[in-house]
Amino acid sequence: MMGLLYALQGQLDLTRVPSLAYRDHAGQVVNQSAPSYPLDRRLLPDYRLIEDQLTTHYDKAFAVWYAQHYELKRMVTMPLDGGCTWGSRASRRCRHCSIQGLTPKTTDPHAVVPVLETVVGRLGANVYAAGDSTCGFSRAQWSGEISYLDDLAEACAASPVLRGRRFMLAYGLVYEFLQSAELCKDFIRTWNVGLEAFDPKLLRGDSKGINKGPERVTEALDLAQRLDYRLYISGIMGLPGTTLQTLRTEVDHWLALAETYRDCITTVSVSSPGVIPGSRMYYDSYRTDPMVRAVHGEIIPARRLTERYVRRNTEVELADVEAAIAEVGRGVITLGKQGSHMKFGGYMLGGKDHEEERERHLLGTICAEL
Ligand code: SF4
Repeated sequence: MMGLLYALQGQLDLTRVPSLAYRDHAGQVVNQSAPSYPLDRRLLPDYRLIEDQLTTHYDKAFAVWYAQHYELKRMVTMPLDGGCTWGSRASRRCRHCSIQGLTPKTTDPHAVVPVLETVVGRLGANVYAAGDSTCGFSRAQWSGEISYLDDLAEACAASPVLRGRRFMLAYGLVYEFLQSAELCKDFIRTWNVGLEAFDPKLLRGDSKGINKGPERVTEALDLAQRLDYRLYISGIMGLPGTTLQTLRTEVDHWLALAETYRDCITTVSVSSPGVIPGSRMYYDSYRTDPMVRAVHGEIIPARRLTERYVRRNTEVELADVEAAIAEVGRGVITLGKQGSHMKFGGYMLGGKDHEEERERHLLGTICAEL
């Protein structure tokens, strides 16, 4: 993004900006690759430089959504790690994942701590660890090959600023959280988890059995509650194999979960499948469905792909899935209003066509002004 901004200001040749696709003067699409650069050699962002922007724009959104759950009333994003160890094996990669070739990598804990001290101590911000599976990097996993979280826990405990502060939001699968929860309980505040679904059959197809059924989920959530973690929980409805019956039981599971863990959940986010380029969902659709090949391009019609995916891979329609999601949403919002401040997130991809149209229009307007 920084490279693109420099290019737009005339300070960098467009051909030197990585991870960019555009049409050249002859109308040909140029696709510049995104080589993965070692995270431990990158500079971490200095949010002091945009503190006024945080105050003017971002803190207000945080106040609406999350502030009641946190002692620190601000949150910034930090690229502390990338990818996940499951993703490094194609056979264990989840169906909806698009992190191929990005796994796994971490920053240097000793370089991170001074940055965290500034963010937490001076800016008063929580840190959103923008990794795919941060809780997966502890020594208790992967035969002890990775000790990133162990080192980070030790470095935070040694810091006079960070000791005793829980400020980080980190992703992790159920299995990974069970392995890392004790280790990270003094600096990770929020466990962000994609539970995906409850039905073991749906899970097997989606994540190759990495996420297990409800018993493991309950074990992990009970542990989170006991260790005073906050929970940001997401899931998918309309996975391959879904029937009207499984939709019903999934709704019941989501509502029961929200009720049981209402005191620690910040957000429940359930959406229909996002058929993202780069994911196996998209790849399989592209290979088997001429319609997907026909619309493959620079901007894809996300909702149409989701609708099609649900129709071809389940016994239900997208309308059934959306009705089920809306029911979960109503339940969560009601609990939130009753004092838990829990929020509901509806969809990430596969939204309404008219919303996509508005986004495209906005993008077009911005580009026209450049
Ligand atoms: S979806 Fe998550 S667990 Fe699955 S391969 Fe991708 S990053 Fe790893």
